[in-house]
Amino acid sequence: MNDPAPVAVYIGLGSNLQNPKWQVESALAELAQLPETRMVSHSSLYRSRPVGPQDQDDFINAVAHLTTRLAADSLLDALQRLEQQHHRVRERRWGPRSLDLDLLLYGDRKIDTPRLTVPHPEIAKRSFVLLPLHEIAPADLMIPGLGLVQTLLNGIERSDIEQLA
Ligand code: ATP
Ligand code: CA
Ligand code: CA
Repeated sequence: MNDPAPVAVYIGLGSNLQNPKWQVESALAELAQLPETRMVSHSSLYRSRPVGPQDQDDFINAVAHLTTRLAADSLLDALQRLEQQHHRVRERRWGPRSLDLDLLLYGDRKIDTPRLTVPHPEIAKRSFVLLPLHEIAPADLMIPGLGLVQTLLNGIERSDIEQLA
């Protein structure tokens, strides 16, 4: 069988424990090493206030643009393995974590299975996803069912996020 054509995917990275900048920078390097996968580009790092419980440190966030021949569920497996390698502990929903890797977009597909919803359901609400995505995505990138990143950004609060050098 021929290999499937590579698909453009975007991954959202976040960390607020155990040296968050290092967590995100090393995860970017690890994403570039995934099998059947190539790193196209990644955003700068951003610092954001946590979603949900406020009694935790700020997050460091970034978005990576990859192309991959991995199926979406295999890619999620790989992302979850990387989270485990970063000693991620799941304490409470939206609580602190050493590394969170969310599959934001998988080409122009819509996926809805028990373990995977793509586009990631919270994309349109989150400045820490939309700003780094806008930094690296083509201007005409459409988020399936939601529209252009630029349009989504117009409706979003930006005071809770800062782009780092
Ligand atoms: P949020 O999804 O609101 O950002 P979270 O990242 O804190 O919250 P997790 O605890 O990391 O949530 O993930 C819970 C489950 O979400 C995972 O076990 C995974 O199966 C599922 N999931 C569904 N869609 C996705 C996606 N697009 N990317 C990553 N995980 C997903
Ligand atoms: Ca998340
Ligand atoms: Ca997650």
